[in-house]
Amino acid sequence: MTSYTIPDPFRIPLACIMKKTVWAYKNSAKIDIGSYQQCAIDLGDIQKHNSISDAEPTTGGTAEGVLIHELVEQFELQKSGVGPNDKAAKDARFNDDHQAGINAQNQVNGNTRLREKEQISEGNRVDFLHNNPYYYKYYRQKDNTILEERISAESKDMQINKKVIPE
Ligand SMILES: [Zn+2]
Repeated sequence: MTSYTIPDPFRIPLACIMKKTVWAYKNSAKIDIGSYQQCAIDLGDIQKHNSISDAEPTTGGTAEGVLIHELVEQFELQKSGVGPNDKAAKDARFNDDHQAGINAQNQVNGNTRLREKEQISEGNRVDFLHNNPYYYKYYRQKDNTILEERISAESKDMQINKKVIPE
């Protein structure tokens, strides 16, 4: 039986799995962590997340988790054969590929990202409406608590705040 251990530092042979270009940015205000539509990842934003080895139990999103999320999304998109300029086809695929990204992220982090809670979050609705943009993500942690992660949007200096919240 083979087992896979996540190497430290975390490395993925990108060239081995990607056929088309995935654009890399560093601290772009236009790319928040990654953009499925623009086939882009922001390595600066990813680096601002804590590493899995920084915290025990693993807290919320991690650098390793968001990186695998973005890469799996782009990998699934490329596997599908949808062209990088076919916006409508990409929109149609996003839901499934985003879920594949979340599944991989959960495996890497050892927690569970609560997508349903993100979709009904007051924060995700209200703050965007009031031009005070933050993303809110929620995770069921290994110790069974719920962690809320607030991430500033459209900033060159992404801020990530995490706190445990009641059920
Ligand atoms: Zn996604």
